[in-house]
Amino acid sequence: MVPVTKEYGFSTQQIHAGHLKNSAGALTSPIYQSSTFVFDNAQQGANRFAGEEDGFIYTRLGNPTEQEIELKLAALEGAEAALFTASGMGAISATMHTFLQSGDHVISSEVVYGCTHALFDEGLRKYGIDFAFVDTTKTDAIVKNIKPNTKMIYIETPANPTLDISDIQAIAAIAHEHDLLFVVDNTFCTPYLQRPIELGADLAVYSATKYINGHGDVVAGAGTGKQDMIDQIRMVGLKDMTGSVISPFDAFLVNRGMKTLSLRMDRHVQNAQKIVEFLESEAKVQQIFYPGNPNFAGYAVAQQQMSQPGAMIAFDLKGGRAAGEKFINSVELMSLAVSLGDAETLIEHPASMTHSTYSEADLKQAGISQGLIRVSAGLEDAADLINDMAQAFAKLDTVIPVS
Ligand SMILES: *Cc1c(COP(=O)(O)O)cnc(C)c1O
Repeated sequence: MVPVTKEYGFSTQQIHAGHLKNSAGALTSPIYQSSTFVFDNAQQGANRFAGEEDGFIYTRLGNPTEQEIELKLAALEGAEAALFTASGMGAISATMHTFLQSGDHVISSEVVYGCTHALFDEGLRKYGIDFAFVDTTKTDAIVKNIKPNTKMIYIETPANPTLDISDIQAIAAIAHEHDLLFVVDNTFCTPYLQRPIELGADLAVYSATKYINGHGDVVAGAGTGKQDMIDQIRMVGLKDMTGSVISPFDAFLVNRGMKTLSLRMDRHVQNAQKIVEFLESEAKVQQIFYPGNPNFAGYAVAQQQMSQPGAMIAFDLKGGRAAGEKFINSVELMSLAVSLGDAETLIEHPASMTHSTYSEADLKQAGISQGLIRVSAGLEDAADLINDMAQAFAKLDTVIPVS
């Protein structure tokens, strides 16, 4: 294995970190498509189960193809350890199952990924875990909601889909003062744009389906943090409670995707910035939500904690939902699809798609309007994306009267 030290840059680490020599000398690591691993003798099997000897046992507990991307992600994040799961929801669910129990209380961002909201508000409530959904962009709202049984603060920043920015460092200080576990969903940034662990979070969680894999061909998740916490998630929430294990083949694809993470992120962000510039000049746009805009509410905090403003954009059209529907039906190059972080630019309607798990009242409270459109800027030529949007705007003339 290439010794991975802080001296290597991000792009070097995303290629080399975690790579283990294989017996054939293959440059690209083989896929260890094996459910179980053979012990030399009874003593070795017993030692591995007792945790007294390193080595693989059974793929639900770990696999070499998975281990390579775990070492890589931990290196990129500057974290002690990482684990991969079968999906982002698998990572979030395994984390919650590991550290919470009946009677506990959690403070969560009110704007989170739709299925995260459903897991918390419906799934975990069934087991007697209580949630306060608060505007975590305001730290005093967090402090006001801390109760004697509060165990965790869970945030998403930038939040899906409104791009709300919460201050990771300030919230980490509150969490540690009150002895609370602090978890950040860092899916929209990846460690290339934002490093929650270095900013004081205990754990970062990811949908690796998105930018980390980046090619729209895998559903996967991940978590990073201190070794003992990652070990606990692996041995409790993942091994016994959810069984949400990534397959060796998917781990192989994620490894391939991760080797170009920094290149892809730079291009995603460039394209997003050009799209935002274009949207600013378009009279049919009511409001743009983008952390790189100086007049965006979260701009100052985003500047402080993100190295670049990301490639997710949300915007509201004059003409609300009817205009939004017409617009997403009119684009030709952009794909009308949920998910994000792929080579293809994706466009979707949160209120009826990714966030349809929210009730009407919760949507309102979270500031997700009926007209909101979310775009994941892909890797195409920006000019082509802008031309596509321009022709879709032209088709809105029947919906939004030109003034
Ligand atoms: C997609 C997503 C998830 C869920 O991940 P899956 O891989 O689809 O299970 C969680 N958080 C955020 C911010 C997401 O965008």
